[in-house]
Amino acid sequence: MGMRESNIVVLATSNLDKVKEFKALFKAHTQLNVAPAKEFLRNADKLKYVETYHSYEENSLAKARTINLACHYPALGDDSGLEIQGLDQKPGPLSARYAIPKAGEGQDEANVQKVLSELKGKKDEDRKAKFTACLSVVMEGLSITAHGELHGTIIEEPRGTNGFGYDPIFVPEGETRTLAEMTQDEKNKISHRAKAFDHLLELLSENRIEWVKP
Ligand code: IMP
Repeated sequence: MGMRESNIVVLATSNLDKVKEFKALFKAHTQLNVAPAKEFLRNADKLKYVETYHSYEENSLAKARTINLACHYPALGDDSGLEIQGLDQKPGPLSARYAIPKAGEGQDEANVQKVLSELKGKKDEDRKAKFTACLSVVMEGLSITAHGELHGTIIEEPRGTNGFGYDPIFVPEGETRTLAEMTQDEKNKISHRAKAFDHLLELLSENRIEWVKP
């Protein structure tokens, strides 16, 4: 398939699990060529944006802005995290680096173990949790930001091998399986990221904004 320059959407992330989910979410948008920043920018991994860790909005916008400035294609940033009631809404925007300061191998498992040990012996109420995803698109001088949430419970032992991050310990409200026991399609019907994506499409359409210039 030939690549038209005008149909590109760049994912402002180096998280391969997020990339997989976005590719599936964009599946119906066959006119778009959706790919992570490293496919367009040789120095994608070195690009620095200021992540405040205070708000998902600022972070997702900063990611999208940085990539859009560098490559000039429409850029989509994702900042997301998990808030747990009994841990004073932590890990929050810091979710990726909760257990170890540097992103990398073994990070997800370490985060899961830290949360499980902090919740040991706590009451059911304390295990209530919420995922939030904030998505920002930056293109041609405009920026637009959308949100999605998923409520659920943190269980005592990890279950399932699909997905990423805290998926093996999170059971969504009204479900019996963890997100990691669901297929990608099942997760993509209910997830915070999918909801934020739908919200984003609504905002784009309300404002008559197209990804691709006609
Ligand atoms: P970010 O790259 O700073 O947005 O970090 C997001 C972090 O939040 C991830 O590394 C995960 O730890 C967690 N997270 C976000 N979305 C999900 C999800 O869909 N499932 C499980 N964990 C998630």
